[in-house]
Amino acid sequence: MDNHLNFEVTKPEIVIVGGGISGLLLALKISKDPKKLANGIVLIEKQPQLGGRFFFSSSANFSGKNYEEITNELFENSSKKINLSGPGFESMPSVTLEALFRHFESHLSEEEKNEFEEFFKNENENSNTNTHKSYFIKKEFVSDRELFSGSSEILTKKESEIFRSFVEDFYQEKNNKENNNSVLNENIIFEKSQQWTELSKATKETLSPIFTAIVGPNWEKSLFLNVCKSLWSFFHLQKKEIPGYFYRGMCLEFGIAKILKKRGVVIRTLCEVIRVNHTKESLFQLILSDEVMPLNNSIHCKKLIFAIPLTKCLGLIAKEHFTPSQSRFVSKVRPVSLVVSEISHFHSIKSENWPENVSSGDQFLFPVERAQCFLTQDGRMLFSTKLDYEESLQAPAVREAVSRLRRAAARVLKSEYAEELKKGARIPQNKISERIVLLPVAYTIPSDMPSNIEVKETKMGIDGLYCCGDSFPGFAEEPWKMVVNSVYDVAMQLS
Ligand SMILES: Cc1cc2nc3c(=O)[nH]c(=O)nc-3n(C[C@H](O)[C@H](O)[C@H](O)COP(=O)(O)OP(=O)(O)OC[C@H]3O[C@@H](n4cnc5c(N)ncnc54)[C@H](O)[C@@H]3O)c2cc1C
Repeated sequence: MDNHLNFEVTKPEIVIVGGGISGLLLALKISKDPKKLANGIVLIEKQPQLGGRFFFSSSANFSGKNYEEITNELFENSSKKINLSGPGFESMPSVTLEALFRHFESHLSEEEKNEFEEFFKNENENSNTNTHKSYFIKKEFVSDRELFSGSSEILTKKESEIFRSFVEDFYQEKNNKENNNSVLNENIIFEKSQQWTELSKATKETLSPIFTAIVGPNWEKSLFLNVCKSLWSFFHLQKKEIPGYFYRGMCLEFGIAKILKKRGVVIRTLCEVIRVNHTKESLFQLILSDEVMPLNNSIHCKKLIFAIPLTKCLGLIAKEHFTPSQSRFVSKVRPVSLVVSEISHFHSIKSENWPENVSSGDQFLFPVERAQCFLTQDGRMLFSTKLDYEESLQAPAVREAVSRLRRAAARVLKSEYAEELKKGARIPQNKISERIVLLPVAYTIPSDMPSNIEVKETKMGIDGLYCCGDSFPGFAEEPWKMVVNSVYDVAMQLS
């Protein structure tokens, strides 16, 4: 691995906090400018590896190791598919990923593009040409086709028709520009909609947990069309092959880090920004908690960009440094948390009833446990459930969610493992690892966001301070478009 790290840079011109997609895209874009590079660009990431929310830190122990050893170990392990964790970008729709990749690629020179290709060269056999399916699980595995085509253990025929209508009719209808006769009021709240209120209590009780599993908590208080859009997306957007670069096993984050380091961007991983002070000379002082170099606990810069969700900036700088619209956003928009339980080497312990034609990327939904899961390309199963914002794994709501996830897992494991899991035991095999992760900001934009919140400012309340990421509903509807547009907006202001 290339190890072009320059730890002498303690007063770079620019510091980017966060190595998720927004931090990486911004670093790639601005480091094309030789002047900015010469003045110093530092990217700070608290996890051992880059990638952001989708890439969980490896469970390895890094104490006493230097950056080079840690990076080599992570990369070595990743290329051998050891300790790879998190969905990576695999769970995102292929159209999103294709567009994202074009943005990343557009900031590479021809030579870098070739290096990038070289980096991924041996991995193309991974690509998966199957179309993705969904299964609903109580006792049996009910495919989406079976679910919609008639009665199953999940829905009666009548209920499946109603459910299909929520999935197919309304979001589609809104998108069909030729259809001007829509009877839908776009601002109606789901629970107040005629389509919902006219249903029987029993039907509502059957559909509610499915909606919770797909849309998330408080869906009934969301706009009717947003709920229908989430349902529609669940069944339609995962249907295409995703570009191979984005499988977790491909280590995209290492490919990008390699290019950034070679250009001269300093990347400090396992380094958390815990406070930002603003000094007179319009300099920012960042107080750091650095696991690798604990004594190196402060850095100064002239320009500071938070490439993390806005909510997360709150603990780092005073709220008075937010603009009014940013401030309104963090006070009014309640983020959602995601609890994830990941089981590695899933194929060796899967249920005897496992359907034959399941492939990676297929989704499974557990109405009773209000949870989902999907199988990654490298054989890990990721169970997840959304809940109201929580910070700690010890919070009662999170513990309750974890036990739901374990009950869901028990439904798709071999009976011997399922029994152990139900008793609360870990899966008893050395090779298999089970991890529980809390993502405190799964979706920063819940669908019930008040429509008057239109954050479009990436500049914050002090000169030289910016933010980018997916907290900018004024830029676009989709999170990835907010990321791209906010990053480009910051880059423009920096130039
Ligand atoms: C399950 C799931 C499904 C999703 N599906 C989609 C989808 O289908 N389409 C879509 O467009 N989007 C989707 N999203 C949203 C998408 O994940 C986000 O838009 C995207 O990850 C935002 O990237 P980011 O770089 O802005 O933030 P993040 O990925 O959160 O990156 C921020 C980084 O900053 C680091 N960090 C945070 N605080 C500090 C600190 N104080 N010091 C140092 N480092 C710090 C974090 O460790 C993290 O690596 C989904 C999200 C989840 C969780």
